[in-house]
Amino acid sequence: MLTETLKRLLPETPAFVYDQTAIDRTLLRFRQAAGETGPKLLYSVKSFPFLPLLRRIAPRVDGFSASSLFEAKLCAEALAGRGSLHITTPGFRPGETDEIGRLCDFVSFNSLNQFDRWSARMQGTASTGLRVNPQRSFLPDPRYDPCRPHSKLGVPLDRLALALAGAGLEERLQGIHFHTVFDSAGFEPLTETLAELEKHLGEHLKRLQWINLGGGYRLDRSMNLERLAGLSAWLQRDYGLEVYFEPGKAVAGPAGYLVASVLDVFDSAGKTVAVLDTSVNHHPEVFEYQRSPRLAEACEEGGENAILAGGTCLAGDLFGEYPLPARPHVGDRFVFKNVGAYTLVKANRFNGHNLPSIYRWDGEALHLEQSHGYEDYRRQWAGEPAAQ
Ligand SMILES: *Cc1c(COP(=O)(O)O)cnc(C)c1O
Repeated sequence: MLTETLKRLLPETPAFVYDQTAIDRTLLRFRQAAGETGPKLLYSVKSFPFLPLLRRIAPRVDGFSASSLFEAKLCAEALAGRGSLHITTPGFRPGETDEIGRLCDFVSFNSLNQFDRWSARMQGTASTGLRVNPQRSFLPDPRYDPCRPHSKLGVPLDRLALALAGAGLEERLQGIHFHTVFDSAGFEPLTETLAELEKHLGEHLKRLQWINLGGGYRLDRSMNLERLAGLSAWLQRDYGLEVYFEPGKAVAGPAGYLVASVLDVFDSAGKTVAVLDTSVNHHPEVFEYQRSPRLAEACEEGGENAILAGGTCLAGDLFGEYPLPARPHVGDRFVFKNVGAYTLVKANRFNGHNLPSIYRWDGEALHLEQSHGYEDYRRQWAGEPAAQ
């Protein structure tokens, strides 16, 4: 089992490992299922914008999608002229738009205001469109839901339909983008969202050149990728659209592991507490959304429960209570699974704790690709402005 191998081979913890073979398999499965008519595949880099990974997968995707100038610059470096670079963000900044227009091939503005303000300047270098809010919610938690009431993400479809009926916009608008789900285990939301688009925009869709379906869908074996390919074929055939799809978590998430060692074990009012050499600050979504990551060592039932705690001073720095095959010991290693996405990109050095090193697993060996030390911590807090 991979997790046992990782625990044996890692020279140190905490460590973040990504399994390159898992990412390759996901991309290959997508290619095979999508075939000729499937959407073009972009990796949405924000969940794990790790340059060595971006360079490796650049030849296997049709491009990248970014959410800021910094991400776009990193993507451009990895693409080195290959593939296309897409961007959308609610926060385009005045001083950055010229560089973004030069770097990116496709820019989706978040509002009609921003489109009017910047799109003309980008003509000739980028194809410009709008992010829309299809106004169909699929997520129970409004913190994740781009279609929540009074959403800040995208132009509401009914508002866009009105604007298109007026003068001037139709000739200038080249594409539309939406992104409405998170970790969806089926493509039903996509079917329903596209029906909504057809209803509101109808023939206007035929005048556009491209559509970006966003990300937020899983791509594991249980997903009906043929259905996605079918929707894409229909958009190409009936509306003449170039179709893009931009998953992030589905690519990086299942491939990532966080490996930690036990520093201390004790009883606390009748429960076993094991303190780890990692913390929720290495995976802040554990705390933000109060959910426990999957643990490789957890047993089905009949085990001995232990609370796995992070090593910082925050009382709520806890990964959760897990059933384990036996009471943990100092020095034991534990592996959190399926944590490749939205983990290190949100990590911080709270309490002066070092960040995990990053290792790549290539199917046979582990390769250290990044490590941090006191100098990195000092650089962050030294109070020495970077030279301009
Ligand atoms: C975050 C994001 C994605 C990727 O979402 P995942 O849930 O990681 O697949 C794609 N498009 C946009 C606009 C996003 O904000």
